[in-house]
Amino acid sequence: MRTYIKDLELKKGEEVIIKGWIDIRRDQGKLIFFDFRDMSGKVQGVVLPGSVAKETAEKTRPEWVVEVKGKVNERPEKNRQADKQNGNIELEILEITVLNEAETLPFDIGTDTREVGEEVRMKYRYVDLRSQRMQRNLRMRSEVFSLMRNYFRDSNFTEVETPILTKSTPEGARDYLVPSRLEKGYFYALPQSPQQYKQLLMTSGIEKYFQFPKCMRDEDTRGDRQPEFTQLDVEISFATEEEVMNVTENLLIKIVTTLYPEKKIQQIPFPKIPYAEAMSKYGVDRPDLRENKEDPNLLAFCWVIDWPMFEKTDKGGWTFSHNPFSGCKKGSEADLVNKSNIENIMAAQYDIVLNGYEIGGGSIRNHRPEMLKKVFEILGYSEEDINSKFGHMLKAFTLGTPPHGGIAWGMDRLMMLLHNEASIREVIAFPKTGEGKDFMMDAPSTVSAEQLIELGITVTKKA
Ligand code: ASP
Repeated sequence: MRTYIKDLELKKGEEVIIKGWIDIRRDQGKLIFFDFRDMSGKVQGVVLPGSVAKETAEKTRPEWVVEVKGKVNERPEKNRQADKQNGNIELEILEITVLNEAETLPFDIGTDTREVGEEVRMKYRYVDLRSQRMQRNLRMRSEVFSLMRNYFRDSNFTEVETPILTKSTPEGARDYLVPSRLEKGYFYALPQSPQQYKQLLMTSGIEKYFQFPKCMRDEDTRGDRQPEFTQLDVEISFATEEEVMNVTENLLIKIVTTLYPEKKIQQIPFPKIPYAEAMSKYGVDRPDLRENKEDPNLLAFCWVIDWPMFEKTDKGGWTFSHNPFSGCKKGSEADLVNKSNIENIMAAQYDIVLNGYEIGGGSIRNHRPEMLKKVFEILGYSEEDINSKFGHMLKAFTLGTPPHGGIAWGMDRLMMLLHNEASIREVIAFPKTGEGKDFMMDAPSTVSAEQLIELGITVTKKA
């Protein structure tokens, strides 16, 4: 049976089998030393003179995958390294079986791979992910997600998956489109967020929903943006702004104190700053409130609240500042009904900001159909457009929909900040480059003429 390297300390004096990679190999002639690595850590091994393992040991190289039979010995007193994992023990190698050989890797994974060119890292991402830094980023991401799942389950939330092939939902970005083969000339859109589905789940009586959806937005890629990214998405029936903010604030505190105890949250409860104050005092709608920007372990969360509902467009019309489904503040209801004083209509919207990055946002929604229609009218939609684009929402809101509100977090940005990484690409297993390319899979790519014919699509110009 296989023993994980982290458990070897418990097996002193016993014969064990470990499986993993050769991290380092040092041939000293008489003795051959190894560091072996598996998902749980590293251990030193040694082939003693006269061992039957010597012949195989001599031909192995770093990054070969091996099965090793060995005896767990206590190291001689002078060689002990008590502060290191398995620093007090050593594996006396009895047998090595090679499971897979490895050519010289395209780059050294013994470093944090930061100095390696991005194109090579992405082309060999599966190798890049072997570095200690990337292993930690992925494993901690999994820890964060499972803590969150437990938190929501303990608070009676239901995790619901929503479709990837759907219809465009307006989050203010360009859609990715997927052609329909059965109805030529028709397209699905990939979701920019599950906004409409999660609201409709409130009509369904789910009451407390969460999900970790993939969201797709065809925007220019930046350090904190990817064509596809992962959200935590939440919606709660009968909720107030305070309630949604409390649920998320408590969860953020729990993530940090449980999984990142070395970090310090600057202020609890998180300060709440009205949008107008953020703009006048800091000149941005996502202020960086850190008292000491040199401290990599300082987390300054804040809420930005009281957002204007509409923004002027270049063409002199109005667009929504966050989400067309946001409700307005009580004091703005009369203005919304009369479509007057539009620049001063305030949304029941809140954004959560961390160290100068927007890591989430949400609102109490507009669940009254006549009020929602007013929003679409202000946005300049015709009656026909409103019905074709949002008819299902307006209808649902006439069939017993509770008041509701929610929030979505950008999980990649949160993980990036928790790990002091410069880009969300460092916390996503298989990200796209700055140009939206996947060098490993070679995507996007051309498709066959047959595929295009089947879809009824003619490509007029190739880049
Ligand atoms: N769906 C919104 C977004 O993706 C968040 C929300 O209002 O819940 O930005």
